[in-house]
Amino acid sequence: MKISVVVPIYNEKDNVAILHKKIKDVMVKNSYDYEIIFVDDGSSDGTFEVMQQLAKGDKNLKIIRFRRNFGQTAAMAAGFDYAKGDVIVSLDGDLQNDPEDIPALLQKIEEGYDVVSGWRKNRQDEKKRVAFSKVANWLIGRITKVDLHDYGCSLKAYRSDVAKNLHMYGELHRFIPVLANIYGASITEIPVRHHPRQFGQSKYNLSRTFRVIVDLILMYFMQKFVTRPIHFFGIIGFFLFALGFGIDSYLAVEKIFFGMNIGNRPLLLMGVLLILTGINLGGIGIISEFLTRIYYESQNKKIYNIKTMINFDDKT
Ligand code: UDP
Ligand code: MG
Repeated sequence: MKISVVVPIYNEKDNVAILHKKIKDVMVKNSYDYEIIFVDDGSSDGTFEVMQQLAKGDKNLKIIRFRRNFGQTAAMAAGFDYAKGDVIVSLDGDLQNDPEDIPALLQKIEEGYDVVSGWRKNRQDEKKRVAFSKVANWLIGRITKVDLHDYGCSLKAYRSDVAKNLHMYGELHRFIPVLANIYGASITEIPVRHHPRQFGQSKYNLSRTFRVIVDLILMYFMQKFVTRPIHFFGIIGFFLFALGFGIDSYLAVEKIFFGMNIGNRPLLLMGVLLILTGINLGGIGIISEFLTRIYYESQNKKIYNIKTMINFDDKT
């Protein structure tokens, strides 16, 4: 079993050498067949030069350097794309994750899981952040039904085909367990160590809270409705339209049969609004159905993922 260790790195000059040594020690100690992939996400503090030196002395260290800062998600995706291992391990480049935990993750992969996620049980970040993250994790669990304590921990192990098929965009690295769940992967979690950041600075602040919230809405939609958007938009649209139609019909009866004045009734406006919104949502649903077909058929993507096939001659 070959292991690829993927690390996204952005301005971590003082961390990379120590991290490289730590990963290497663990790999050698456990006699793994391995490669380490450092992805330099457009660092501007000399991180790349340090990594270049490290790579001179270690054939197993591979480096991908981005032209500019594309973000942690992109850096991880690049590492996954170029990884050659059967199992891919990801971790942060700031020494907050501990490479010593890798064997325990791999143990779980050997037990048969497709994704093993680290749980920073004793998280060493700002109190405020840890508290926010607790709420976020609870909410993500409730909404996506993927049952983990900690979605955001970068220290994870994946079977290669899962990692390579996550289709991450934006900042969706935080939702890898959900993406893996959409793919059909079996997921588990183990407690891992977590250290305070010693060198360099965190690249994120609380402004990401809002991004996490909208990403969560996206994940909910992708998980449930990506191949049948009309069920989402169509049903809501239908009910709004029906409600609006009912309200306005009632007003029409009052006007026509009882000669009442309805021009100044707020209810009229409400009915019109509901009818229009309903029609719009229905239309969006139909457009989304076409987009879904374009998305899948233009890339020959399937709406299913197969784990095993037996007696199909060329595939086993
Ligand atoms: N990172 C990256 N590109 C970015 C931001 C961060 O590759 O645009 C890397 C960073 O170098 C680190 C990891 O992603 O290895 C996690 O970042 P950070 O430690 O700043 O996040 P935090 O632990 O504070 O959530
Ligand atoms: Mg960090």
